[in-house]
Amino acid sequence: MANTQTKLKEVKLFINGEYVESSSQTLFEVKNPATQEIIAKVHEASFEDVDRACEAARQAFEEGPWRTMPLSERCAKIRRMAEIIIERKEELARLEALDVGKPYQVALEREIPRAAENLKFFADFMEHQGGEVYPMDDAYLNYTRYEPVGVAALITPWNLPFMLTTWKLGPCLASGNTAVIKPAEITPLTVSLLGEIAQQAGIPDGVVNVVHGFGVQSAGEFMTTHPEVDLISFTGETTTGKAIMKNGADSLKKVSFELGGKAANIIFEDANLDKAIPVSIQAAFMNSGQVCLAGSRILVQRTILDEFLTRFKEAAAALVVGDPQDAKTNMGPVVSQAHYNKVTSYLSIAEYENSTLIYGGKRPELPVHLSTGYYLQPTIYLQENAQARICQEEIFGPIVTIIPFDTEVEALAIANGTEYGLNAVVWTENLQRAHRISHDVRAGTIWVNCWFVRDLRAPFGGFKKSGVGREGGHHSLEFFTEAKNICIALK
Ligand code: NAD
Repeated sequence: MANTQTKLKEVKLFINGEYVESSSQTLFEVKNPATQEIIAKVHEASFEDVDRACEAARQAFEEGPWRTMPLSERCAKIRRMAEIIIERKEELARLEALDVGKPYQVALEREIPRAAENLKFFADFMEHQGGEVYPMDDAYLNYTRYEPVGVAALITPWNLPFMLTTWKLGPCLASGNTAVIKPAEITPLTVSLLGEIAQQAGIPDGVVNVVHGFGVQSAGEFMTTHPEVDLISFTGETTTGKAIMKNGADSLKKVSFELGGKAANIIFEDANLDKAIPVSIQAAFMNSGQVCLAGSRILVQRTILDEFLTRFKEAAAALVVGDPQDAKTNMGPVVSQAHYNKVTSYLSIAEYENSTLIYGGKRPELPVHLSTGYYLQPTIYLQENAQARICQEEIFGPIVTIIPFDTEVEALAIANGTEYGLNAVVWTENLQRAHRISHDVRAGTIWVNCWFVRDLRAPFGGFKKSGVGREGGHHSLEFFTEAKNICIALK
């Protein structure tokens, strides 16, 4: 059993190459969601602090060597950041598990290596980019350049703090921009180390700044209204995206939003259940269901409903819910008291809507040191009405709803019948059907007979209220650059 007693950390702001205290001396606390123990005191950025961070980023962009240094040198420094992350992966994974409540093993084997890969990938990718050439008869020659935009605000949520921040930071830096980062207030620990890691990698002062705080009337809002910020890359809730868009409108900031989801995971009667069930369990309960891509609505063809329910329930019951620091744990707590209250409020909503509880719905039995943690059993409901709130709203916790369907047409209507469109999953052995459904579901990513497989070159983002724009490969670079056309008279 891992030692849960941790030394209280002081998390400072990283501005212009230095860790500094909040100018207002305001600090807020961060708790371990598995125990409610206070693990960190965090300096909250005042307006003056955010202003200094944005000014530092502006100066580093306009006057520093970052934008103008040879691309190979810039990308080598970003790759060095990736190497340092791998060198420090145990430490980062421990912190992520402590802060978010996710299993250490998942952070160690998946998220922290992926964070390093995000940086390395975009450094490599940028070095392989060219531009376009458009000759006009023999009289003129057009060619394009992709130039950095300026100062980027990178605002990230608490579910995958380090991985999602590097997913933005990689293309931001590789394109030659400078950054002011704000992690979610409840999970600042790993992201706060990005300042130090950037410095160790030789990235000039002012290029990477990290501020801490909340959204409204705090660091988030100060960043998104700041005149020196040119572009905002945000991942979080759809309602926050709307507020950020409004706040950034006055200064016409460029925005890229990765927002909420309520993915349909569609299981047809010809699906290979030996594969579909374990992957659907992952899709429902990985990170305690706190994944934007979670397969939180499982649409099951009625002819296989009984078999699916029995086997899915058995697999959910076999998940080990426990201490995130323990290597055997499959599922930890949810992230905070406020989020626990939100997630568990859906238990009474589900009951009110006459959903049938198939499994879970209670606090799991846990060792005494976890008795105050924000734990809920993996929970499964059956609901015939696809318009019920548990089938429509993003719960973002370990609660999954099974919705039966009879025909392909019906499955498609249910899959498309929400305001979200981030992703969907299809399980079938019928090739034509796999293509038909993939074409007709209105979502940014469709996984057929798999889930959560990511090629970093591929576009990632949402239809409808799940996002604005796309990230990944050249889609990220388009957002983080301005295309310039140069037209030369040849005669
Ligand atoms: P959130 O929107 O509450 O917060 C995200 C970040 O925005 C935090 O850093 C927060 O402090 C900041 N913020 C809040 N209000 C703000 C404001 N008015 N101005 C500027 N910044 C503000 O989201 P969350 O609860 O941290 O994360 C969960 C949400 O994120 C879920 O909806 C989930 O689906 C979504 N998410 C989406 C993706 C994706 O790729 N589409 C990935 C992960 C999470």
